[in-house]
Amino acid sequence: MIVDLHCHSTASDGSLSPGELIQRAADQDVELLSLTDHDTIAGYQGLDVPAGLRLVGGIELSCVWSGVTVHIVGLGIDLDSEVMQAVEQRQGEARERRAQVIAERLERRGFVGVYDHARAGAGSRPLGRPDFARALVELGHVASESEAFDRYLGAGKIGDVKAMWPELATVLEWILLSGGVPVLAHPLYYRMTATKLRALIAAFVEAGGVAMEVCSGKPSADDLRYSRRLCEQFGLEASIGSDFHQPLAWNELGRDSAVAHDLPGVWERWL
Ligand code: MN
Ligand code: MN
Ligand code: MN
Repeated sequence: MIVDLHCHSTASDGSLSPGELIQRAADQDVELLSLTDHDTIAGYQGLDVPAGLRLVGGIELSCVWSGVTVHIVGLGIDLDSEVMQAVEQRQGEARERRAQVIAERLERRGFVGVYDHARAGAGSRPLGRPDFARALVELGHVASESEAFDRYLGAGKIGDVKAMWPELATVLEWILLSGGVPVLAHPLYYRMTATKLRALIAAFVEAGGVAMEVCSGKPSADDLRYSRRLCEQFGLEASIGSDFHQPLAWNELGRDSAVAHDLPGVWERWL
């Protein structure tokens, strides 16, 4: 079965509108999809679901654990719950405060007008670093978005501003209160030592975590094996997502659920 429980639209930092994204998923024979935009469920508003596709309410929430920014996906959340409305507002404010700090630093560096330019391109949604990267390219300060990250926005650079994200346990509580299933997103992406990663997963389980992504994007065979083993050791359900942001041949929507092998699949909850 083809599933995808992690992807992004223009409601956060993806390049396809929610409607385009969901149609693309249907074209890729995805049977079960969750749109998991960063800290917002705005993409679900007025969304028409194509025949043959099952849509599960979702969100990707940022939080901190032990000084590291960690992402938790909430699946099967009640999109109308009051908790989710408050969460969106709170996370949006944290993101906007961070955007203001990034903008101040960039402007002090001489990139005058970078905030207004990024804002004009993003509409009303909260700004992230990719928006500033795009603005720096469009204003002619750098040749590419990757150069913008290398010089100004990446880890350790002036635009690397920590957002005031909530704690891991807080975010799990929000998801559980919204009737959702907490999923640890892309565990290998944080580049933690094995010991630290195990401590993170243990804290996640302790706080009520239920599943982890054993397949995020296009993992190597080794990474897949490693994730599957962690999933099994901690008694978690497996989740699968492309983390699709834009149409690129190497990261298409949809993954075969067989990559999880015989682990219990979190997707089975919605079949
Ligand atoms: Mn993203
Ligand atoms: Mn993420
Ligand atoms: Mn993501």
